[in-house]
Order: sequence, then structure tokens, then C-alpha cells
Amino acid sequence: MTFEYVPPSLYNFLIQLAEKNKLGILELKTMFIRKVANDLGFYCPHESIGYKDKKPFCKRCWTRLNQTEQQTIFKGKLIKSTEYEPIETFLDQFYSYISTRESKFEHEK
Ligand SMILES: [Zn+2]
Repeated sequence: MTFEYVPPSLYNFLIQLAEKNKLGILELKTMFIRKVANDLGFYCPHESIGYKDKKPFCKRCWTRLNQTEQQTIFKGKLIKSTEYEPIETFLDQFYSYISTRESKFEHEK
């Protein structure tokens, strides 16, 4: 799948959305693909961690991550592994807002 070409008006919309959210256009496109893929059953456990600019991300799906737990080693034995969770994106916030609004609307019926 390639996105070398995007129709002009759609491209303008994507550029504005990327600027508004301080994202690169490639990251925005990847977010869109990931969202649709998730809705269609894609799942990634984010087990392959890489670092870019000292910030963790999943090397398999490029999701940006936050480190939530530090690795714990006691007497040379691994007690707890380092844990990560996905950073909330503007898309997550948007869909969270939509679902809150819909559930509120359902409640008011
Ligand atoms: Zn992943």
C-alpha cells in the first residue's frame, strides 16, 4: 500500500490536520491506517521497543509509547520488566469524545 499520491483536497485537509496537531504527514497517515486496521481486527502487543530521540516507540506498528514501569532486577534476577503504554493521540481523544457524547445522548433518550 502506498500513499505517494493523495488527491488535492484530501491532501490539504491532511496537511492542516497534521499542522494543527504538530505531527508529520507520514505519522498522521500511519495513525489513520492503524486506526482503521485496529477497527478491522489488527492487534499489536507493542513488545518490540525502539527509541527515537530517546523516546520509546513500538518498532512493529510505530505507536509512540510512554514508559510506565521501570525494570526491577534483584540479585541479578529480573523481577519486573519495563512496561510501556501507548501515548494518547488526538484521534484517541476525538473518538473518546464521540463515544462520551453518544453515551450521554443515549442516556438522555
Ligand atoms: Zn505495536
